[in-house]
Amino acid sequence: KASVAGYARAQSLDHAFNLLHSALGEAVVIAGGQSLVASLNLRLSEEALLVDIRHLPELRGIGVRDGFLRLGALTRHVELASDPLVGEHVPLLAQAAPLIAHAAIRSRGTLGGSLANADPAAELPACMIALGAEILVRSAQGERRIPAHSFFEGLFTTALEESEIIIAVDVPLKAAGDQHVIQELTRRSGDYAIVGLAGVKSVNGVRLAYFGVSDKPVLAAGAMDILNSGGSIDDAVAALRGDLDPESDPHASAEYRRHLAAVLMRRVMVDLTNS
Ligand code: FAD
Repeated sequence: KASVAGYARAQSLDHAFNLLHSALGEAVVIAGGQSLVASLNLRLSEEALLVDIRHLPELRGIGVRDGFLRLGALTRHVELASDPLVGEHVPLLAQAAPLIAHAAIRSRGTLGGSLANADPAAELPACMIALGAEILVRSAQGERRIPAHSFFEGLFTTALEESEIIIAVDVPLKAAGDQHVIQELTRRSGDYAIVGLAGVKSVNGVRLAYFGVSDKPVLAAGAMDILNSGGSIDDAVAALRGDLDPESDPHASAEYRRHLAAVLMRRVMVDLTNS
């Protein structure tokens, strides 16, 4: 691939699609630039064309519609932390946003960018799975909705086609009595999590999505089954052996990650039950 040769500021979504099509396979969109620019600097990506989508009004806005909180793809992490609608209807995201990186990154990084980037240690992808959110994506051919649990396919890999842009995310509204909790363990404040867990408790039971334990966020299906059929937290923790298959890396061994996953399960379940 050629190294970056061009930058184009999209004037409309159709313009963005045309630009992407004009250099298919060699063009990417840039939103907050907080992951992409670092990756270009490190020569981990080499794109011929950056299509800047930051100025498209269609990708902005936070509002309630049809039982969902719709979050535009350009919603910045700092907005998730402070927007009153997010705090009221999806407190999990308001809790998660301050855990992401540092203030400077949170003031530029976007929701769509975090989901498209699909870092397995990122907070927002796991939150979207725990919440049962749907990701709206569009190309020149039309729009489709992708459930969060099938959007993340592997390390930095999603169900997005090259010509598609994330437009927004629809998140089910918190009902009275629902509980939202996120916990993570990091070496230093602002670091990516070694292991993290996003939990949602509703009338349908608990949903627990881990991050930092695999090449993508993982729903702890076995542990959830046990908890949702009246089993004990000890049994749910034991079931994590079947749910999670972490690998060792320079940051932590697989066994240490398993240990932290169990610690987080106990903490999150206490918070979900007591809050
Ligand atoms: P960009 O960097 O602009 O783009 C990232 C990727 O997403 C690119 O491939 C781009 O083409 C694609 N993309 C962007 N928007 C769209 C869209 N609407 N549709 C389709 N594709 C799109 N993140 C965490 O979650 N937790 C952390 O603890 C954390 N720590 C960080 C620490 C540092 C030092 C840095 C530099 C970053 C960290 N991040 C962390 C990443 C940060 O949250 C990024 O902002 C985020 O992952 C990407 O958002 P962005 O808008 O900056 O995307």
